[in-house]
Amino acid sequence: MAKKIYLYGNWKMNNTYSETEKFFVDFAPAYEPFRNDKNLEVGIFAPFTSLWPLSQGAKKSGIVFGAQNVYYEAKGAFTGEISIPMLKEYGVTHIIIGHSERRHIFGEPDEMIAKKVKAVLDAGMTPVLCYGETLEERESGNTFTVMERQLKSAISGLTPDEVKKIIYAYEPVWAIGTGKTATPDQAEEVCKWSRELIGQPEAVILYGGSVKGSNAKELLSMKDIDGALVGGASLKPAPFLEIYTAYRE
Ligand code: PEP
Repeated sequence: MAKKIYLYGNWKMNNTYSETEKFFVDFAPAYEPFRNDKNLEVGIFAPFTSLWPLSQGAKKSGIVFGAQNVYYEAKGAFTGEISIPMLKEYGVTHIIIGHSERRHIFGEPDEMIAKKVKAVLDAGMTPVLCYGETLEERESGNTFTVMERQLKSAISGLTPDEVKKIIYAYEPVWAIGTGKTATPDQAEEVCKWSRELIGQPEAVILYGGSVKGSNAKELLSMKDIDGALVGGASLKPAPFLEIYTAYRE
């Protein structure tokens, strides 16, 4: 039986309100042939200001949609932050937590990421937890030490059921937005190792880092890779969906 593929697009700080509306003019007909494919789950994660048109387009096409970040407190004096109840009113079900750009550009520490993961789970929503090593960490032989710290800090204190509900996204920092992709063996090695560390054989583990049509088949065919978190190639419907068609060919 074919495995289920998760194809998640992280738009980062791209696609305004009107550009999101335009995206769905093309996406809706392009996605139609895949709509009833039980082995595919498509999700899009947009900036907060594009969540409304995203929610409308996503509901019509029957895809998952979400936000790229959230704060863990429900309300209060946290200028500039967005809370889980605010996102819930938009119908958001999934939230990316701990993306490497949040960790490295905005300095989000492991403890904050753990609190966000817990708050999202407590709200009955799905955290998409990103983790991964920098080039320097890989070259100095610290890949697994770093990822063990990131993963353990995010899941310690959670019940096995909660640990299973998280969607994990291994994203080597050196492969994000750089055009460099981890080889299928490198990605598989980490995803397999992560599955063991997490202790949940059925956990969903994605790979992210310059995934596109031309490398999708070999990456997504690896046993422990359940799908892709895609940045650049998710901004337009055709290259985004091509990732799945290339895998299926
Ligand atoms: C990402 O933003 O999570 C990502 C993997 O980006 P890209 O596909 O552009 O490398």
